[in-house]
Amino acid sequence: MNKRTVTFCLLLLALLASAAAGQAPAQSAPITAIKAGRLIDPETGTAAANQVIIIEGEKIKAVGAELAIPAGANVIDLSKLTVMPGLVDAHTHMAITYKEQPENNYYYLTYVMDSTPLRAIQAASNGIQLLNAGFTVIRDVGNNGMYADTALRQAIEQGWLPGPTVIPSGIIIGGTGGQFWPTPEMHKQHKIVYPEYIDANSHDEIVRAVRENMLFGARTIKLCIDCKPWGYSVEDIKLAISEAAKGGCKVEGHVQTPEGAQRAIDAGIYIIGHGNALTPEHHRQMAEKGIFLAGTDTPFTKYRGGEAAFKQTVAKLRDAWEKKVPLTFSTDLDYWNERMKDEKTGEWMSRGDLTIAFLDTWKAANIPPADILRAITINGYKAADIIKERGPIKPGLFADLIAVAGDPLTDIDAVRNVRFVMKNGMVFKKDGVMSPEKFFNPGPVRMPNGRYTR
Ligand SMILES: [Zn+2]
Repeated sequence: MNKRTVTFCLLLLALLASAAAGQAPAQSAPITAIKAGRLIDPETGTAAANQVIIIEGEKIKAVGAELAIPAGANVIDLSKLTVMPGLVDAHTHMAITYKEQPENNYYYLTYVMDSTPLRAIQAASNGIQLLNAGFTVIRDVGNNGMYADTALRQAIEQGWLPGPTVIPSGIIIGGTGGQFWPTPEMHKQHKIVYPEYIDANSHDEIVRAVRENMLFGARTIKLCIDCKPWGYSVEDIKLAISEAAKGGCKVEGHVQTPEGAQRAIDAGIYIIGHGNALTPEHHRQMAEKGIFLAGTDTPFTKYRGGEAAFKQTVAKLRDAWEKKVPLTFSTDLDYWNERMKDEKTGEWMSRGDLTIAFLDTWKAANIPPADILRAITINGYKAADIIKERGPIKPGLFADLIAVAGDPLTDIDAVRNVRFVMKNGMVFKKDGVMSPEKFFNPGPVRMPNGRYTR
């Protein structure tokens, strides 16, 4: 390093230090007090009446029945509503929307037709729609072009716009082609499969791919376990898991065959994505090992699904629940068509409406509301590996919460109509109407480590 470089580095350090100092939390963070008519704890499946939640800045300070409301606090009266933690979609795709026109639902074409910047803007819109429906955390697991998912994470964390906390996977890692079956021309000459997948066939390539995703902002890693008949071995999967752990990431395996499921389980994977290929024996082993299931349990509606497939999905979800697999609520939503309209109003369903509509499958499987609530909150935070930061309404955690009319512990449909949403201590929605002004900023208002908030 020469003298000039040293001077430059020192200058840069000084600049960074002063920037960090400028972003230190203000001396007196605003205090908010929420009066909750009922407060649900999904962990225990219980509710407490007339609770007060004190929030200081972005975080929860105290929760209880007899709390004194500090002078000067901004009081939010939700005494007629049920307050609960925000919802989690544990497997979704924010930056891909394949359509009947022009792709004929053939998602090979989506990434050719839609640029990554366009897809990133779709992701921003989808994030706002999901937050409006009460989803404060999502796991966004691939098919996001050239890292639209980590860009969305970064934009929300920096404070450009509102949205859920995004746990992105970066680019899906698989053997050559990923989920695609490219022609030689696509693969060798034009690279027309990429950036949807990272090819990683050897151990060196697996390590490199995992590191690359983490470098570019992934908080989880997604592997195609068995997208090809040769797929990943137990040893390959174990290597990905140990490499991901170095960057604080857990691994999800996309699984589509019983053999692939078994290899993922044997390797000790953290989450299995898609429940279709799982047998009762897999469920038994997953329960024993505590492996999360993101079943992506598609309901049968006029815009998606078929009756036979739905019956099978319902039966598998039911069996997984009976065997006590740690279940998460997950959708795999990545499509749109002309029929996605509300039957009563004839209006387009939002991305949030479409997401929460997956409750139909859980209801058809006769899963008790308290267990559905646990899946769509607590298990989601655990699967996203953020439960120590946010999720439960407990002192010290980020103030993310929602409020609904009625009692979701007895009628799960209550969560379809979210009246109030708070994210990081800021009100995003009140009286059933979005009020996101405070979330829009002309610059990055939060970026303590320069890129991400963690
Ligand atoms: Zn998916």
